[in-house]
Amino acid sequence: MPLDVCQLPLVGGHPVLDLVNTRERGGASPHDFLSDSSALLRWSVRVGVISDAEVDEIGRAWRDEPAAAHAGVVAVRDIREALHLVLLATITDADAGTAGDPVAAGAALVALHQRWSGAAARARFVLDSSRVRLTYGTVPAMVVPDRIAAAALDVMLTADLTRVRRCPVLEGGCGWLFLDQSRSGSRRWCRMADCGNAVKARRLTERRRAARTAGP
Ligand SMILES: [Zn+2]
Repeated sequence: MPLDVCQLPLVGGHPVLDLVNTRERGGASPHDFLSDSSALLRWSVRVGVISDAEVDEIGRAWRDEPAAAHAGVVAVRDIREALHLVLLATITDADAGTAGDPVAAGAALVALHQRWSGAAARARFVLDSSRVRLTYGTVPAMVVPDRIAAAALDVMLTADLTRVRRCPVLEGGCGWLFLDQSRSGSRRWCRMADCGNAVKARRLTERRRAARTAGP
Protein backbone atom coordinates (compact mmCIF):
# COMPACT_ATOMS: atom_id res chain seq x y z
CA MET A 1 0.00 0.00 0.00
CA PRO A 2 1.70 3.22 -1.09
CA LEU A 3 1.73 6.23 1.20
CA ASP A 4 -1.09 8.71 1.02
CA VAL A 5 -0.04 11.92 -0.70
CA CYS A 6 -0.36 13.72 2.63
CA GLN A 7 2.20 11.41 4.22
CA LEU A 8 4.91 12.33 1.73
CA PRO A 9 7.76 14.21 3.33
CA LEU A 10 7.94 17.82 2.18
CA VAL A 11 11.58 18.26 1.29
CA GLY A 12 11.44 20.48 -1.79
CA GLY A 13 11.83 23.84 -0.08
CA HIS A 14 8.97 25.24 -2.19
CA PRO A 15 5.44 23.90 -2.75
CA VAL A 16 5.97 23.29 -6.45
CA LEU A 17 9.14 21.28 -5.87
CA ASP A 18 7.10 19.22 -3.45
CA LEU A 19 4.56 18.96 -6.26
CA VAL A 20 7.21 17.56 -8.59
CA ASN A 21 7.91 14.99 -5.87
CA THR A 22 4.32 13.70 -5.79
CA ARG A 23 5.26 11.26 -8.51
CA GLU A 24 7.86 8.57 -8.18
CA ARG A 25 10.68 8.93 -10.65
CA GLY A 26 12.17 5.92 -12.33
CA GLY A 27 11.07 2.32 -12.13
CA ALA A 28 8.81 0.48 -14.54
CA SER A 29 5.52 1.97 -13.38
CA PRO A 30 6.23 4.96 -11.15
CA HIS A 31 3.44 5.64 -8.67
CA ASP A 32 1.51 8.88 -8.94
CA PHE A 33 0.44 10.12 -5.52
CA LEU A 34 -1.92 12.68 -7.07
CA SER A 35 -4.27 9.84 -7.86
CA ASP A 36 -7.47 11.85 -8.09
CA SER A 37 -9.08 15.20 -7.30
CA SER A 38 -9.57 14.27 -3.65
CA ALA A 39 -5.84 13.59 -3.22
CA LEU A 40 -5.05 16.83 -5.03
CA LEU A 41 -7.40 18.79 -2.79
CA ARG A 42 -5.92 17.34 0.40
CA TRP A 43 -2.37 17.94 -0.81
CA SER A 44 -3.18 21.53 -1.82
CA VAL A 45 -4.39 22.40 1.68
CA ARG A 46 -1.43 20.70 3.26
CA VAL A 47 1.17 22.71 1.33
CA GLY A 48 -0.81 25.94 1.62
CA VAL A 49 -1.83 26.35 -2.03
CA ILE A 50 -5.37 26.84 -0.75
CA SER A 51 -6.66 27.73 2.70
CA ASP A 52 -8.84 25.62 4.99
CA ALA A 53 -11.62 28.10 4.31
CA GLU A 54 -11.47 27.42 0.56
CA VAL A 55 -11.56 23.63 0.67
CA ASP A 56 -15.31 23.19 0.98
CA GLU A 57 -16.15 25.52 -1.86
CA ILE A 58 -13.62 23.92 -4.21
CA GLY A 59 -14.70 20.42 -3.17
CA ARG A 60 -18.31 21.35 -3.87
CA ALA A 61 -17.45 22.82 -7.27
CA TRP A 62 -15.58 19.63 -8.17
CA ARG A 63 -18.37 17.36 -6.94
CA ASP A 64 -20.94 19.32 -8.95
CA GLU A 65 -18.77 19.19 -12.02
CA PRO A 66 -16.68 16.02 -12.19
CA ALA A 67 -15.28 17.04 -15.58
CA ALA A 68 -13.86 20.20 -14.02
CA ALA A 69 -12.32 18.16 -11.22
CA HIS A 70 -10.71 15.86 -13.75
CA ALA A 71 -9.49 18.85 -15.78
CA GLY A 72 -7.97 20.28 -12.61
CA VAL A 73 -6.01 17.11 -11.93
CA VAL A 74 -4.86 16.93 -15.54
CA ALA A 75 -3.74 20.57 -15.44
CA VAL A 76 -1.79 20.10 -12.23
CA ARG A 77 -0.09 16.95 -13.51
CA ASP A 78 0.81 18.85 -16.70
CA ILE A 79 2.35 21.68 -14.72
CA ARG A 80 4.18 19.16 -12.55
CA GLU A 81 5.73 17.26 -15.44
CA ALA A 82 6.63 20.45 -17.33
CA LEU A 83 8.26 21.94 -14.27
CA HIS A 84 10.16 18.71 -13.67
CA LEU A 85 11.69 18.96 -17.15
CA VAL A 86 12.58 22.62 -16.68
CA LEU A 87 14.17 22.05 -13.28
CA LEU A 88 16.11 19.01 -14.49
CA ALA A 89 17.58 21.18 -17.23
CA THR A 90 18.94 23.54 -14.58
CA ILE A 91 20.88 20.81 -12.83
CA THR A 92 24.50 20.83 -13.85
CA ASP A 93 25.48 18.27 -11.25
CA ALA A 94 27.01 15.21 -12.83
CA ASP A 95 24.46 12.75 -11.46
CA ALA A 96 24.32 10.87 -14.74
CA GLY A 97 20.90 10.05 -15.97
CA THR A 98 19.55 13.38 -14.82
CA ALA A 99 20.95 15.17 -17.82
CA GLY A 100 18.26 17.70 -18.62
CA ASP A 101 17.05 17.93 -22.19
CA PRO A 102 17.05 21.58 -23.32
CA VAL A 103 14.57 20.92 -26.15
CA ALA A 104 12.13 19.18 -23.81
CA ALA A 105 12.65 21.98 -21.29
CA GLY A 106 11.88 24.59 -23.95
CA ALA A 107 8.63 22.84 -24.85
CA ALA A 108 7.83 22.54 -21.15
CA LEU A 109 8.29 26.31 -20.73
CA VAL A 110 5.75 26.88 -23.51
CA ALA A 111 3.30 24.58 -21.71
CA LEU A 112 3.91 26.35 -18.40
CA HIS A 113 3.37 29.72 -20.04
CA GLN A 114 0.03 28.52 -21.43
CA ARG A 115 -1.09 27.26 -18.04
CA TRP A 116 -0.02 30.49 -16.39
CA SER A 117 -1.71 32.61 -19.10
CA GLY A 118 -5.01 30.89 -18.35
CA ALA A 119 -4.47 31.44 -14.64
CA ALA A 120 -3.59 35.10 -15.22
CA ALA A 121 -6.71 35.58 -17.32
CA ARG A 122 -8.81 34.35 -14.40
CA ALA A 123 -6.84 36.37 -11.82
CA ARG A 124 -8.03 39.66 -10.35
CA PHE A 125 -6.38 42.85 -9.22
CA VAL A 126 -7.41 43.49 -5.65
CA LEU A 127 -6.93 46.88 -4.03
CA ASP A 128 -5.45 46.70 -0.54
CA SER A 129 -5.05 49.74 1.64
CA SER A 130 -1.42 50.13 0.64
CA ARG A 131 -1.10 48.42 -2.74
CA VAL A 132 -2.73 46.41 -5.48
CA ARG A 133 -2.36 42.65 -5.32
CA LEU A 134 -2.75 40.11 -8.09
CA THR A 135 -4.99 37.34 -6.77
CA TYR A 136 -4.97 34.03 -8.59
CA GLY A 137 -7.81 31.57 -8.29
CA THR A 138 -11.12 33.37 -8.56
CA VAL A 139 -13.04 30.52 -10.22
CA PRO A 140 -13.67 27.77 -7.63
CA ALA A 141 -13.17 24.83 -10.00
CA MET A 142 -9.87 26.32 -11.21
CA VAL A 143 -8.40 27.69 -7.98
CA VAL A 144 -6.00 24.78 -7.46
CA PRO A 145 -4.45 24.62 -10.95
CA ASP A 146 -4.34 28.42 -11.18
CA ARG A 147 -2.53 28.83 -7.86
CA ILE A 148 -0.11 26.07 -8.80
CA ALA A 149 0.59 27.68 -12.18
CA ALA A 150 1.33 30.93 -10.35
CA ALA A 151 3.55 29.13 -7.84
CA ALA A 152 5.48 27.50 -10.70
CA LEU A 153 6.08 30.94 -12.17
CA ASP A 154 7.17 32.18 -8.76
CA VAL A 155 9.82 29.51 -8.36
CA MET A 156 11.11 29.98 -11.89
CA LEU A 157 11.39 33.76 -11.54
CA THR A 158 12.52 34.13 -7.96
CA ALA A 159 14.34 30.99 -6.80
CA ASP A 160 18.06 30.56 -7.29
CA LEU A 161 17.88 27.70 -9.78
CA THR A 162 21.57 26.93 -9.35
CA ARG A 163 20.36 25.53 -6.00
CA VAL A 164 18.08 22.90 -7.55
CA ARG A 165 19.35 19.44 -6.63
CA ARG A 166 18.25 15.91 -7.37
CA CYS A 167 18.52 13.21 -4.73
CA PRO A 168 21.22 11.11 -6.44
CA VAL A 169 19.64 8.11 -8.08
CA LEU A 170 22.91 6.43 -8.95
CA GLU A 171 23.80 6.32 -5.29
CA GLY A 172 20.47 4.93 -4.20
CA GLY A 173 18.68 8.25 -3.83
CA CYS A 174 15.08 8.71 -4.86
CA GLY A 175 15.40 11.26 -7.64
CA TRP A 176 13.27 13.83 -5.87
CA LEU A 177 14.10 17.46 -6.46
CA PHE A 178 14.74 20.06 -3.82
CA LEU A 179 16.12 23.56 -3.39
CA ASP A 180 19.35 23.39 -1.45
CA GLN A 181 18.94 26.13 1.13
CA SER A 182 21.94 25.12 3.18
CA ARG A 183 24.50 27.82 3.74
CA SER A 184 27.24 25.77 2.15
CA GLY A 185 25.16 24.68 -0.81
CA SER A 186 26.36 21.12 -0.37
CA ARG A 187 23.13 19.29 0.46
CA ARG A 188 22.94 16.10 -1.59
CA TRP A 189 20.08 14.01 -0.22
CA CYS A 190 16.42 14.86 -0.01
CA ARG A 191 16.48 13.57 3.57
CA MET A 192 19.93 12.85 4.86
CA ALA A 193 19.11 9.76 6.90
CA ASP A 194 15.79 8.52 5.63
CA CYS A 195 16.28 8.34 1.90
CA GLY A 196 18.82 5.55 1.85
CA ASN A 197 16.67 3.56 4.29
CA ALA A 198 13.56 4.15 2.21
CA VAL A 199 15.39 2.92 -0.87
CA LYS A 200 16.40 -0.24 0.95
CA ALA A 201 12.85 -0.82 2.15
CA ARG A 202 11.48 -0.30 -1.33
CA ARG A 203 13.98 -2.74 -2.80
CA LEU A 204 12.99 -5.27 -0.18
CA THR A 205 9.32 -4.81 -1.10
CA GLU A 206 10.18 -5.21 -4.77
CA ARG A 207 12.13 -8.37 -4.08
CA ARG A 208 9.23 -9.76 -2.05
CA ARG A 209 6.78 -8.83 -4.78
CA ALA A 210 9.01 -10.45 -7.38
CA ALA A 211 9.26 -13.56 -5.19
CA ARG A 212 5.47 -13.68 -4.84
CA THR A 213 4.99 -13.24 -8.59
CA ALA A 214 7.50 -15.97 -9.27
CA GLY A 215 5.42 -18.23 -7.02
CA PRO A 216 6.54 -21.15 -4.93
ZN1 LIG B 1 15.83 11.04 -1.74
